[in-house]
Amino acid sequence: MVDKTLAIIVAGGRGSRMAGSTSIDGINSPKQYLKLNKRTILDLAINKFTSHNDVDAVLVVIHNDDKKIYHDTLTPHDKLLPPVIGGNSRRQSVLNGLTAAIDLGVFSKVLIHDAARPFVEEQTIAAVVSAIRPGHGAIPANAVVDTLKESNPSQHVRKTISREFLYCAQTPQGFMLADITRVHKKADRLSQDQQTKQAFTDDASMFEWDGLDVELISAPASNFKITTQDDLARAKQIAQTSREMIMHPDIRTGNGYDVHAFEPGIAIILCGVSIPFHKKLKGHSDADVALHALTDAILGTIGAGDIGTHFPPSDQQWLNVESSFFLHAALKLVKEKGGILNHVDITLICEEPKIGPHRETLRAELARLCDIDIDRASLKATTNEKLGFIGRKEGISAIATATVSFGDRF
Ligand code: MG
Repeated sequence: MVDKTLAIIVAGGRGSRMAGSTSIDGINSPKQYLKLNKRTILDLAINKFTSHNDVDAVLVVIHNDDKKIYHDTLTPHDKLLPPVIGGNSRRQSVLNGLTAAIDLGVFSKVLIHDAARPFVEEQTIAAVVSAIRPGHGAIPANAVVDTLKESNPSQHVRKTISREFLYCAQTPQGFMLADITRVHKKADRLSQDQQTKQAFTDDASMFEWDGLDVELISAPASNFKITTQDDLARAKQIAQTSREMIMHPDIRTGNGYDVHAFEPGIAIILCGVSIPFHKKLKGHSDADVALHALTDAILGTIGAGDIGTHFPPSDQQWLNVESSFFLHAALKLVKEKGGILNHVDITLICEEPKIGPHRETLRAELARLCDIDIDRASLKATTNEKLGFIGRKEGISAIATATVSFGDRF
């Protein structure tokens, strides 16, 4: 059945807009063969598609002069087809790729992508593929956010243009293979008729010119095309940050300890859950020893002192307050610093009450309060082998560990 999706990566360009040196290992080369960390921009772009579940094969269109560098710098992949040699223009190069795709006879959808966009996101590719249907193309685009000025030839403002409904077109641009091939061939015939000068700077503009529909898929501006030296510097910075995040991830662990004594009562509160018992825990707030230890552990991941720093027991406003309030305040501080709570682990130490029968209830409430999946919330309990004040059933202590990660991984 002919229902496969092909990604065509257009890599035949000479990078004429990249002023200055574009050398790789001392040899001048087109920008798509420059390296970000250890891999070329083209290799990184190819990898976005070979590793994508919605893409069945990848075909790269290269310049005739680049055969050696292409093979020398490529990461092999089962989905990667032999490269096709491009033409004298981007349009001609895409047409060569489309013709090769038609000849293979197994593809119904095609994505056409610029080699110089190595930061395209997985979700963007998936959204474009799923929007393609006959007579209907889809392209990722980001809304224009800057104020737009139209200039006169001497670079003085002629007027300000409304940016409403204006988007910057990105790639991959997705179409039915039969549709875009027909449109490309039509444009090719037109280009041979020198009477008409029709400039197409992307594939969608040909589709529009033929009266077909093109849907805009919202995509992040991070899917930018590396065109100028400034873009290259930005790309290197992103790649470097990403590498550092992988090599040296910012994952922090905090610990916390708390203890509360028993006094006569009817229930104790642990992890926000009230457990009927003939004693209660003595304290200024609800004396939830588990959440107090955890709050200290969370504050520990950002070096933000302890629960007493933020909520001094001398302050009457914390009288009888629910301890989830303290926990949420600590989590908010972590979030404001860019942290994501990955995991919490609490050990309760007491001779009584028996924690076992309540354990899963406490754990579920702990996960809910921390807004994390249940398998990221651990609750354990042990006795103190009848030793010391815990052994004499004078109170409960708790130790807690929190793990928080910081920073985005690109
Ligand atoms: Mg306490």
